[in-house]
Parts: sequence; C-alpha cells; structure tokens
Amino acid sequence: MLTSNSHFFWVGNPADDSQINEKFTQLENIAGLPSALGGLVCIHHDNAEEIDASLKAFYSRPGSWSWCVFVTKATPLSECVTDGVYDEQLASSTWDGMRSRLETMKHRSTVDPLVGWLGVNRERRVKPLKSITSTSIYSYPIIDLFFPDLSSTYRYVLAEQKQGVLENDQLIDRIRVCSKCNSGHLNYIEVCPSCSSIDIESQSSLHCFTCGHVGDQQSFLRRGKLECPKCLTQLRHIGVDYDRPLENHVCNSCSHLFVEASTVSHCLSCSSQIAVEDLVVRKIYKMSLGETGEYTFQHGKVAQAPTLSIKGKVDVSFFPEPACVGQ
Ligand SMILES: [Zn+2]
Ligand SMILES: [Zn+2]
Ligand SMILES: [Zn+2]
Repeated sequence: MLTSNSHFFWVGNPADDSQINEKFTQLENIAGLPSALGGLVCIHHDNAEEIDASLKAFYSRPGSWSWCVFVTKATPLSECVTDGVYDEQLASSTWDGMRSRLETMKHRSTVDPLVGWLGVNRERRVKPLKSITSTSIYSYPIIDLFFPDLSSTYRYVLAEQKQGVLENDQLIDRIRVCSKCNSGHLNYIEVCPSCSSIDIESQSSLHCFTCGHVGDQQSFLRRGKLECPKCLTQLRHIGVDYDRPLENHVCNSCSHLFVEASTVSHCLSCSSQIAVEDLVVRKIYKMSLGETGEYTFQHGKVAQAPTLSIKGKVDVSFFPEPACVGQ
C-alpha cells in the first residue's frame, strides 16, 4: 500500500525540473494532502515565512509523524522538524527506510506522534531552536507542533527524558534562567559587596606608607608630583614610599573600597534580583528516541512499572539502564 509514487507530493511553487514534476503530485497548499499515513512531501516556497507556515499547517494534521518531509530551502524551523533539504537520493533512501518501518509497525493508529516520528526515521532528533524573542531562549519546535497546548516544551522533553521516552544525544548549550519566572533574559550587574549598590567604579588608588592613607591617585597629585593629601609626605618611590592597594574599586554609595565586586542577576522579564548561584541552570540537549520510547514504538504501549513480587524481584528489562541493577 505504501509502495507507489502516488505518495509523493510537491507543495507550493512548481519545480523547474520536469522530472520532479512527473514524479510528484503538485499541490498549491498543505490542505490538499491526503490524510493517509505514510507519504513524502516537499515544500517549495520562496520565502521563509511561507515555508514555516506550511510546515506548521502540515504538522497540525493527524498522522503527520509518518511522513517524510523535505523543503527546498532550509529555515531555522525546517532544520528542527524536517528530513532536510530535498535531494533526490536522500529523499528516496529516507522514503525507503520509513516505508519499510511503517509497513512492519503494529500500532500505527495509536502511537504517540513524537514516538512515531522518531521511530520511523532513526536519523531524526528532537532539536532545540534558539529564539532571542522568547523568554525561555530555547524551545523544541517539533514538540510545539505535535502538542501546541504545552506551556513549556523544555519541561515536556525533561519529563519524557526521565521516563526514558527520549534520551540525551548531544549537549547544545547550558543557560541560566530566573528562579521566579524561568526567563533567560537576565542582566548581570557588578555591585558593592558591602551595600549591594550598583553605583561602583574602578579607581587607581595609592597607599601612603607614612600615614596609611588610601585614596584616589588624582588626590595625590600636587604640582605634577605625588604627595599624600593627608600627611603631605612626598611620595617618590613605589614600594618604598607608597604602593597601589589591591582594592581598586570604590562604592559611591558607602565609600567601601574592594578588590572584587559581587555579581547579581537582574531578571529583565519579572524584575527580580537574584543571586547568581540561585539561578536555575538548564542543559539544552538534542535528543533521540530512548529505551522506553523504543519499547512504545515496538509494542504500542508504555511498559507499566512492575509491582514487586514477593521475592522482591523486578523484571530486569524494565530498568532503562541495566548498569543500575545490582549496584
Ligand atoms: Zn557600598
Ligand atoms: Zn600620608
Ligand atoms: Zn524573572
């Protein structure tokens, strides 16, 4: 049922290549696609907005997980949710692989779309997309497309990873977010370690050995020479008459002199001031199908946590990592 080229669709502008035109059914938009499982669609528009709109329309259709999806021009979104930029060989090998997996799949009609999407093509990954206009900085577009009602795609992938549906493939970034509102839009400010004022500045100060006075270098300048403004001693030799103290910052609010400023973070989204060590660290991974996901893909249901038998034995296969058993 999945073997003919009647499953190939070209959406958008017609291709210049007549071979493509023969191979594909031409459609103006996504709405013309059949609702059957399994197919190959190539989206061909001039601008990125149209490409992304077509991808969003495509993934709002049930069963979209079971299709090969190509574009003729990559966009940041297409990099996360398609099988790549159309190339005849790539398309045909991707289609062959997906078709055979689909045909032997037992639970096509009930599979979770994310598990199905990752399961039918093992090259696929749940990829994060960076967007500086979003307060969370990173999102997972494929999750957004399959489950548009979620408030946080990050929390979703984290939960799926804990259950073994997904597993970490590659660490892409590590970000810090506000512990109050989860925004990654943060400003880091150096403040006075004594009174937390932001009104601090670095200064070149001098330290008079005779009276111990420490002050701004400017205040020691008298008629082109260095003289302590307090005890009026002439300072001729550094290391003998005076030196430069390590404390080269001064607070304009409390006059405190210090070596190193403290750093606080200021959330640009909710205006909270949060100590840097209290920020929440998020590791952003690219993810692949995990062991539970594989089980679900093969058997169509999630392995239930087995109840402990009276002998206290649990089926070893339940544990995602066999190395955990017996430790
Ligand atoms: Zn201060
Ligand atoms: Zn002095
Ligand atoms: Zn915040």
